Amino acid sequence: MPSPFTPEHQLLRESFRQFVETEIKPHVAEWEANKICDREVFRKMGERGFFGVSFPEEYGGSGMDMWSAVVISEELTKANVGGLAMSLYAHTYLPLPAICALGTEEQKQKYLVPALRGEKIAALGITEPGAGSDVGGITTTAEDKGDHFVVNGSKMFITNGTLADFILLAVRTGEGHNLSLLIFDTDTPGFSATPVHNKLGMHTSDTGQLYFHNCQVPKSALLGQKDMGFYYIMNNFQEERLIAAITGTASAEHALEKAKRYMHERQAFGRPIAKFQVLRHKIAKMAITVEACRSLSYRAVQEFIEQGPAAYRIISMAKAFVCEEAFYVVNEALQIHGGWGYMEDYGIARSLRDIRLMTVGAGTTEIMHEIISKIELDNVKHEKQLLKTRT
Ligand SMILES: Cc1cc2nc3c(=O)[nH]c(=O)nc-3n(C[C@H](O)[C@H](O)[C@H](O)COP(=O)(O)OP(=O)(O)OC[C@H]3O[C@@H](n4cnc5c(N)ncnc54)[C@H](O)[C@@H]3O)c2cc1C
Repeated sequence: MPSPFTPEHQLLRESFRQFVETEIKPHVAEWEANKICDREVFRKMGERGFFGVSFPEEYGGSGMDMWSAVVISEELTKANVGGLAMSLYAHTYLPLPAICALGTEEQKQKYLVPALRGEKIAALGITEPGAGSDVGGITTTAEDKGDHFVVNGSKMFITNGTLADFILLAVRTGEGHNLSLLIFDTDTPGFSATPVHNKLGMHTSDTGQLYFHNCQVPKSALLGQKDMGFYYIMNNFQEERLIAAITGTASAEHALEKAKRYMHERQAFGRPIAKFQVLRHKIAKMAITVEACRSLSYRAVQEFIEQGPAAYRIISMAKAFVCEEAFYVVNEALQIHGGWGYMEDYGIARSLRDIRLMTVGAGTTEIMHEIISKIELDNVKHEKQLLKTRT
């Protein structure tokens, strides 16, 4: 595959690389210790136009293609702070694509434009204490009161949950799969959020539990059509999963590069450990895995550019494969660092903690396998048709 990156992408890469050096890396230790990043990094990202690279120019974006999001993801991964990357993606690629695709002009001006500028922080609220993979099982309700909805319930594990100014919120508006999406302002009376701190990794990201108690939401907050939320969510997952695959690939490559460097530096039995064949072969297998991850995820990006969410087969494959394999690569990189890998000094310990989430978040590996096996075995034509008509 020839490089998909144009000179414009290259310029973006250089300018974002500089941003990562000056505005992100110096703050990582503080954010990880505080278990949250600050609002300032959102503002700076927005001010420099990095949130909007793949969004339309009319809403403050740069109008570039999805490869620009790949550039941002690859460079951000070099800061080795998965929690920040997750917070920034949960802002940009979880709620905003749906608002951009389905929102009214008023909604776009009110939420999309300030979010791309980094002036408002966004989150996506689907998961609940009792329902994650089973999106159709959510119980947070939005009762239709004529000119407004009344929202009651709670959400769990929501990235940017306590920082967010607005949340794209999945609510039940009827039986079965009759869900809807509301753009929910977090200053609505009856709303509260508490941080979830006891996480294995992704420490820089703000994870919240959200509570809704008789929250009155205007009808103008409805995104798209009432009761169509389930299908909107299924489409919206594609961008999130694509970003997960790209980030997983970049994280695996980052760990591989660290392991290679360390093997040349570290001496054992009177020689660099890079001389031991067993470790050399580990590197070979890790390098093959990274290339396979890149091929699959880049192909998924290309198909997404061509087909949008209808590319869900290859996106699900990339998400499942990369997230599992990235964990393998980072784990091997830690092994190559020996005891030092287990310490915080080389950053591999943090990489391992952070990468572990990838097979769970944005749809578990088992759910990806369910989607793929359905396509492979059952209803290819039927599902594709559904996705097209519901976009
Ligand atoms: C740090 C963090 C950040 C997150 N950020 C967000 C966010 O911003 N917004 C948001 O909405 N959610 C977020 N999530 C939630 C995340 O998407 C869910 O945790 C994930 O979808 C899994 O849901 P669950 O935890 O309820 O697990 P469950 O759905 O209960 O799954 C438990 C196990 O059962 C398996 N399983 C379930 N159903 C099936 C099936 N049909 N077939 C086979 N196996 C199955 C799963 O694969 C898993 O192994 C976040 C989670 C974490 C930990």
